[in-house]
Order: sequence, then structure tokens, then C-alpha cells
Amino acid sequence: MRPKFKILITATEAVPYAKTGGLADVTGVLPKYLKQLGHDVRLVIPRYYEIDKVKYGLKEVQGALGVPMGVLGEEWCGVFEGKIPETDVPVYFIEHERYFGRKNLYNDDNGQGYMDNDNRFAFFSKACLQLCKKLDFYPDIIHANDWQTAAIPILLNTTYKHDALGKAASILTIHNIQHQGSFYEGLMDVLGIGWEHFNFLELEFNNQVNLLKGGILHSTLITTVSDGYAKEIQSPEYAWGLEGVVKERAGSLYGILNGCDYSEWNPETDKYIVKNYSENDLSGKLECKRDLQKTFGLPVRDDIPVFGIVSRLVKQKGVDILSEALYSLFDLDAQFILLGTGEVWSHFYFGGAPKFFPDKIGVHIGFNNELAHKIEAGSDFFIMPSRFEPCGLNQMYSLRYGTLPVVRATGGLNDTVDNFNEQEMTGTGFKFYDPAANALFNTIGWSVYTYYNNKPAMKKLIANAMQKRFTWENSAKKYEDVYYLAVRRRQNIYISS
Ligand code: ADP
Repeated sequence: MRPKFKILITATEAVPYAKTGGLADVTGVLPKYLKQLGHDVRLVIPRYYEIDKVKYGLKEVQGALGVPMGVLGEEWCGVFEGKIPETDVPVYFIEHERYFGRKNLYNDDNGQGYMDNDNRFAFFSKACLQLCKKLDFYPDIIHANDWQTAAIPILLNTTYKHDALGKAASILTIHNIQHQGSFYEGLMDVLGIGWEHFNFLELEFNNQVNLLKGGILHSTLITTVSDGYAKEIQSPEYAWGLEGVVKERAGSLYGILNGCDYSEWNPETDKYIVKNYSENDLSGKLECKRDLQKTFGLPVRDDIPVFGIVSRLVKQKGVDILSEALYSLFDLDAQFILLGTGEVWSHFYFGGAPKFFPDKIGVHIGFNNELAHKIEAGSDFFIMPSRFEPCGLNQMYSLRYGTLPVVRATGGLNDTVDNFNEQEMTGTGFKFYDPAANALFNTIGWSVYTYYNNKPAMKKLIANAMQKRFTWENSAKKYEDVYYLAVRRRQNIYISS
């Protein structure tokens, strides 16, 4: 029997309270499954303006929380407590008007990081640790996520080393290594851990304090959100300068895929689509396709392949690759549907295309969950040309909906999609390797060819795809394994595997 742990998950976003990306899905959903495995798990996040205390039934924890902020002196904050909806998992909210009482999480309205992000998240990281003391909750594991809470493993090894809290093992999950929390060196005085830690083997990187680097080097174990990405971030192409640091800790790095929320993304029960369908009866999918074509003003044709795209329109997602290939794609007898927001140029570029090619492409610039569901259900193929993709969720949804993913073979996309093998008639989608427009074009061409000329293969691929499952139960068990190893390692008991 595995021991049951006290676990604190620390993050700067979590569904349903605040979300900018996949990180929020992990931190909002994983605790529920860890709880089901019998652990005492709790979550702590900032109380941003948008988190409605009344709606979520939050109650104030009595007494202010003092947080030592180095040269800034002691700062104080409030703490609120609730339960993650439909679970028994306690969630704490750190309330500090000046740091978190604003609309966006990390950036101003122009997309620039807030000027005081260094102090905001140093404060939050320290507040998480002070909160444990206030609650008399001494975790076996403190799980930090991305650069915003990467100071926690550093603090556990320095300020809190000789404290009861310092016994906690730390896990740092990297959801996206591009964002590292790199700041002016004066942050050392706010962290208050001593300037001796500002060296190239700890926090210093290019004469700045790099919180993610410090976190990687100080955490007991590190995880990232796919095996593929765990390997990729050891190379210069993907690590944004931290490849050496990651490589140094490669023996302590684990890839764990995020789970897919099948209660929300299931064609059998999806409430946003015109007709539900299943592996055994795909007739509803055809109705979803017609509905989708109508919704986007495209000719309603059963015989033509429809390609869907739902994405943040940013370079990471390969939106530049797609834009370069777009007008060649219109030569194919296929339709394209795009939903997304992101870089301003892309709104004009893609948003303008339907005017010139009304039979070929439908576009909605914006964020719209209902349309995202309709696209997953009504498309035949789903395009993800990402330059890098730590895990990716949309391809998992697509598989479940029998909408064959056409993906660049990177990170989580490469791990979750099996390439079509024409001889063996195996696979769940179509892959390309070069992050280049011609590779994308050729692979979409391959899928169009298959659609028109190889119906048995299409049938087989759809059946294979719809049987794939990436469950949170499975992911939570893998996190449990890593926690177990981390606790043993923190106790200096090394297990030979
Ligand atoms: P990332 O977290 O990097 O943006 P993921 O594929 O992991 O990428 O997750 C993206 C999530 O956001 C998916 O659930 C996807 O459906 C959703 N999404 C992205 N853009 C939009 C949009 N414009 N409208 C609706 N949902 C969107």
C-alpha cells in the first residue's frame, strides 16, 4: 500500500476560477483525482478581480497573513477559502488588492507583462508557504507550476530549509518553457534568500534572475506535460536557452500527459452539437457537419472534406505556417473552418479570407466554446501545425470526436497521434515533421487524397481515433508515482529501480 500524502498544489490559474491556458486545466482538475486516490490535497491560487467570492461561496479565513518581502518589508494579505466545485478539495485564495486586484492575470491590455510581475509572483510564492504555517498544514509535497511559482522550490531549500516546511519535497511542472520569469537582479533583495544564490548554477541567467531556472535546479523532481516535450526541452530548438539546465536534471524529469475532460468533450453527450453520435453510429456526425457548414456560411456538401482549426492565433501554434499555406490549400477540393484569437495581423489575414473565397473558408475571430464543440464534431479533419506543443488538448478532443488530427509531430501531438500507415492500415491521424508550409500543404493533401480515394482507411482511422482515451485517472496515478519518488528522495532514501 502506498502512503497517503499531504499535498499542496500552488498555481496562478485554475479552472473554473481563472484560465489563460492548459495550465489551468491541470491545476483545477488534477486535485479531484488525487483526492480520489486518498490524498489530502489542497490548492492555492491568487484571488484575481474576476473571481467572484459570492458565486463560489468563498469564506474569509480569520486573520491577515504576513509575508516577508525582503527589502520591501513585511506585506499583508487576506485569505479566502472554498471548495473546488463538485469536489471536497479545499482551495485557498490569496487576496492582495495591489498585486491581484486587476483584470488580467499576467499582461496589460496591450499584451505586455505587468511591470511588477516579479514582486507579484514572488509575493504569491511566499504567501503559499506562509499559508501552510497559518493553517498548520505541513505538506509532504508542494507542487509548483511554471515560473510564477518556481520560487517555491528555491525558498524550500534556502529560507525554509531549517523550518518544518523545509521537509516538503517539491515538484515543479513545466507547462511551457518559453515563459521563464526572467527579471532584473534586484529581485534577489525581495526574495531575501541571499546574494550567494545569484550564480550561474542557481538563479542567474544572462545577468538576470531567472525563476524557472532556479526552480528547475532546486526542485526535488520536475515534470512536464508529455514525454516528447520532456525530451525536446533538452535541446536548443525548444528550450529557449535552458537546455543545459534541463539536461543537468534530466534524470529527475518525468513526462506526464494531461488528461482530457471527457465529461465535457464527448460526442455522445455533448450539449452544444445538433446531434449526438458514437463510434457505433456515426450518422449524427454528418448532421453536425451540415450544421457546421451552415453556421459558417459554406456550401452544404456531404461529399467534401471539412478541416477545422480552433487555436490561439500565435506563432507557437504555427499560425504563420498555416497563413503561408492557406492560399494553396484553396486549390484543393476541401473546406476550411477557423476559430481563434491572437496576434492582430492574423485577425485581418484570416478574417479577410472568406470575402475572397466564400466557398472555401469560414472564419470566426473570437473565443467561443460552443463553436469549438461544433467544429470538433462537424469537421472531418483537425489541423494543428504547432511549432511546439507541450501537451495540447484539441487533438485529444478531435480523436474522441472521430475528427482526424493533422498535426506537426512535436511534443504532446507526437505522443498522442499515431501516423497513418497505409500498408498496415493503422494510425489515428496524419503527421508532418518540418515546421514549414509545404510540409503542412503536402500532409493536408495526403489526407484529402485519403478522404476521396481510400474510404476503408478513413473508416478504420476514425474507429481507431474514437477508441483512444487519455484519462485524468491515469495521469493522477503517474503524478502519485512521482510524488512517492520525490518524498523518498527528499528523505534521502534513494530507490534503485
Ligand atoms: P493552449 O493551452 O496552448 O492554448 P491547448 O490545446 O492545450 O492549447 O488548449 C486550448 C484550449 O482552449 C482548448 O480547450 C481549445 O478548445 C480552447 N480554445 C482555444 N482557442 C479557442 C477559441 N478561440 N474559442 C474557443 N476555445 C478555444
